[in-house]
Amino acid sequence: MNKYNLSPESLMMSYGYEPEWSEGAIKPPIFQTSTFVFKSAEEGKAYFELAYGLRDKNKNEQLGLIYSRLNNPNLEILENRLCLWDKADDCAVFESGMSAISTVLMEFLKPGDLLLYSSPVYGGTDHFIHHFLPSIGVNTLCFDASDSKEDIIERIEQSGYKANLSLIYIETPANPTNDIIDISVCKEIADLYSSEEKKVHIAVDNTYMGPLWSQPLKHGADIVLYSATKYIGGHSDVIAGAVLGNFEIIQRVKTLRTFLGNMPSPHTCWLLLRSLETLKVRMEQQMQNANIIAKYLNEHSQVESVNYLGLLDKESKNYKIYQKQYSAPGAMISLYIKGGEEEAFFFLNNLKLFKLAVSLGSTESLAQHPASMTHAGVEPSSKQRLKITDNLVRLSIGIENYEDLIWDINQALEKVAMLDTAKSSDFCGRV
Ligand SMILES: *Cc1c(COP(=O)(O)O)cnc(C)c1O
Repeated sequence: MNKYNLSPESLMMSYGYEPEWSEGAIKPPIFQTSTFVFKSAEEGKAYFELAYGLRDKNKNEQLGLIYSRLNNPNLEILENRLCLWDKADDCAVFESGMSAISTVLMEFLKPGDLLLYSSPVYGGTDHFIHHFLPSIGVNTLCFDASDSKEDIIERIEQSGYKANLSLIYIETPANPTNDIIDISVCKEIADLYSSEEKKVHIAVDNTYMGPLWSQPLKHGADIVLYSATKYIGGHSDVIAGAVLGNFEIIQRVKTLRTFLGNMPSPHTCWLLLRSLETLKVRMEQQMQNANIIAKYLNEHSQVESVNYLGLLDKESKNYKIYQKQYSAPGAMISLYIKGGEEEAFFFLNNLKLFKLAVSLGSTESLAQHPASMTHAGVEPSSKQRLKITDNLVRLSIGIENYEDLIWDINQALEKVAMLDTAKSSDFCGRV
């Protein structure tokens, strides 16, 4: 059975696991063990030779189970299944999205190197790039969705570090604005600065759209990153991360992971295996709900504007990138409420079914205020430029009945309208 002959959703219940390994259990048990018993000293020696790269693998030889910081059945089954969605050679899973991201940045950037990254990026990533990387002598340079290929090249040329460019890191669509970045343009830039001795790698944080609606490897990315806490986990009950790419890249990432020790526990992997079985049905329902809700919001009199990939102007540059890179508009909506922080907070405080919480991609719908929550640390001038304003609210749409979600949004927006009427009558001196 070639793993690519069948659709990933057909393989999520069985791929990479044989019931005879576990007394016929249809599902992999949790291999809650720290270490594995070798059949003989010779076998232990052979496994360690591979683990430490002391010799090449023999034909069909697999690395045996040694110790749960290096490998564990739950971890390996999860990695094998995640590969199917992105059509990647290999995968390394992590105890959080941030540990996946920071491990990749540390492996692919050395002192003196230049990192080119898109802005805005997830707050934790932003902090790591601004505070940790400079402390180890890595130079950083950002661009945003409005920059053309020529603008970006000019910035690299003027940075003084163009010979040291070694990684392009992008997040698309950007959180919380839904701006999108063309991966193939980044690939052209990477090729321009790659040489025989040094390849410039491209890493894409695919948390917002993957693995269902976007597969960055197809568009020239070398490394795909996930906060598996979001859609992959999908139930707001686990923190995890993943990195995908070719064998050579994932070997490097796994080697660093072995020594940082930031792999997930068997229990976390087991929870994610359970989540993966319903990944497609969850994400599709979330997207269908979001599509209807975005259109509803776009017509609402209390709403100034809505950023949602399903509402892109068909003549825009973003729409062309969207068509090329994504198979659906996703389930994340950003809306600008008429008014400012007061109106946005009043809306959030009056929601009944939506939960007021950060995170995204889960079965329940969530709402939050980027300017004061997820993006509180972004400098005021950048906030203005990136349109992370006080009246911006971000919604992550879940799998509830969309009519109930619309009812909830509507009753909260009606309260905002009453607040505004009260304010304006005060202003006029009338009640
Ligand atoms: C949540 C998130 C992360 C960080 O992941 P954790 O699992 O919370 O460590 C990184 N990137 C994006 C886009 C995210 O939404």
